[in-house]
Amino acid sequence: MGIRNFEIKNRTVDIINILPDSVANQIAAGEVVDRPASAVKELLENAMDAGATQIDMVVKDAGRTLIQTIDNGCGMSDSDARLCFERHATSKIHRADDLFAIHTMGFRGEALASIAAIAQVELRTRMHDSELGTQVIIEGSQIVSQQPTACPPGTSIAVKNLFFNVPARRNFLKKDSVELSHIEEVFRRVTLIHYDIGFSLTSNGKMLYDLKPGSMLQRIAGLYGNAYKERFFNVEEETDLLKIKGFVGKPEYARKTRGEQYLFVNGRFIKHPALSAAVEKAYNDMLPERSFPSYFIGLQVDPARIDINIHPTKTEVKFVDEHAMFAILRSAVKKALGQFTLATELEFDTPAEFNIPPAPKGYVPPEPKISYNPDYNPFRATPTQTRMKLDSSHGIDTPEDYKRVKAPKDIQDLDAFDLEAPVVAAAPQPSAQCLQVQGRYIVTSLSSGLAVIDQQRAHERVLYDRLTSQNAQTQDLRQATSQALLFPVNCQFTPADADLFGELLPDLRGYGFAIDPMGQCTFVVTATPADLKESQLQETFDRMLADYKSSTLQKYNNRTQSLCASLARQMAVKPGTVLGQEEMQQLVADLFACPMPETSPSGKKIITVVKPEEILK
Ligand code: ADP
Ligand code: MG
Repeated sequence: MGIRNFEIKNRTVDIINILPDSVANQIAAGEVVDRPASAVKELLENAMDAGATQIDMVVKDAGRTLIQTIDNGCGMSDSDARLCFERHATSKIHRADDLFAIHTMGFRGEALASIAAIAQVELRTRMHDSELGTQVIIEGSQIVSQQPTACPPGTSIAVKNLFFNVPARRNFLKKDSVELSHIEEVFRRVTLIHYDIGFSLTSNGKMLYDLKPGSMLQRIAGLYGNAYKERFFNVEEETDLLKIKGFVGKPEYARKTRGEQYLFVNGRFIKHPALSAAVEKAYNDMLPERSFPSYFIGLQVDPARIDINIHPTKTEVKFVDEHAMFAILRSAVKKALGQFTLATELEFDTPAEFNIPPAPKGYVPPEPKISYNPDYNPFRATPTQTRMKLDSSHGIDTPEDYKRVKAPKDIQDLDAFDLEAPVVAAAPQPSAQCLQVQGRYIVTSLSSGLAVIDQQRAHERVLYDRLTSQNAQTQDLRQATSQALLFPVNCQFTPADADLFGELLPDLRGYGFAIDPMGQCTFVVTATPADLKESQLQETFDRMLADYKSSTLQKYNNRTQSLCASLARQMAVKPGTVLGQEEMQQLVADLFACPMPETSPSGKKIITVVKPEEILK
């Protein structure tokens, strides 16, 4: 390399040098391999690209002294075994056009060249139809030896003494425990989504993971333990644009950090703040305060709709159809959290809807309207009509009918970003008969089957939505629907509780209570939100304060949500309360008017649908 001073001063001679490959590779290596975990990633990806069904990873000293993959993939020929260490040596693209249809993990032909520039590498590889394999030893980009060798079909690459010739990098490495945790993270990111491939990870002679090929849930359990099998709901959806398959954590298992959030696109781990937000949004207020859902979600999209102009070792990606993907993902997760209830399954019968162009900026979607036939009597349907669908209350019998009900005449009617609207269409007729079972459940018919509704949870949801929305409105209007009490009721608290209660007064007034302090520990209540009985008042407040003090209330996002959830729980009808026909119909109608009728404020399932097929059986 020589820019010498005299040459610059007397610029009479040629001074540009072409860097030797070994130096260029070493510089490039800095980008591709900055720590052992990145070499682990490249080796795993190469083995998968080679079609391996079993990949064993061995590390020593957190990858400092050894990183080795042994795979049963296609192997390499003698000359490829040498060529693969050249820069821009790749079997994965031939023309620039290929870039738009990449289905492999690597394609730039940089990884092996980079690794070989900064380590001592031993490659042993054999193609399945060859009798002998090849061994190549390369150190700091220099081929040391190549010779035939007996080895199993597939490829073994051992990377020894990483950064042996780059002391600055070597000294920069963190403690073994830190580097190993990076390796494990890479291992999870790769293995979680490639659950059809067997993987193992051995560190300092100890096997940390031995993952058999299987389902995604089995893979999650293999990595995190069997207890995880119970902690997730399945998300699955398929539209023209996007295929979703994965698992979302039940709200009660939400964590204090975002550690367990894994999003994959076309088999590759990605970070995408907007899509992650779509998942979190679907949880709405089901999550404890400052906690985050766990999820493992695989997306499949047409590679041509992904911006490929992004560095392959980076995890950021850009999508052409980001808005639509956001809506589909959020809706799918919502559906999963509602646990397959309602007719939401119909939402995806007409994926063409997702091809609607994004709404113009500033466009405010209209409120979804419920349309129904007021003359409909569910018990008048002829036997042939009731055979496949219990409730044809929307006049829906064929897929075309669904489109008719769901697809608006004018495209502006449809909020492409809010797919909750179709859920509303699943509500039963206001006149649909209800039956109370065991003093706990209301049974009624929906278009998707027979609904069994937990009356207490349903009421909790209705009250909660009413309280929270009332509070939001009263911020401006200073009024809430409440009923004046015929006789004022006194409530008494311990001094500490009275202090707390005093602090909460403004909130409570917002929900429709009229309360004033009367002496040190007594408060007088002159009005309550509709639905609350006078005799329940003291108990309701006592429990609300207890909830507020205990950790259970920190479960909700903010104070309003926590207070409303507590009040709703106290005020809701309890099991054993006999409900009249009209009360049940009202409750069911109110429930379906809520944006999230499927789950109670504390995240419990409200509705179970027994499908017509199941009834037929
Ligand atoms: P890229 O993966 O971007 O093509 P790499 O430097 O990672 O570049 O690999 C170079 C080439 O070496 C690959 O294109 C592939 O043909 C070959 N190769 C690497 N690892 C393996 C392996 N485990 N089995 C078979 N071939 C491999
Ligand atoms: Mg590669």
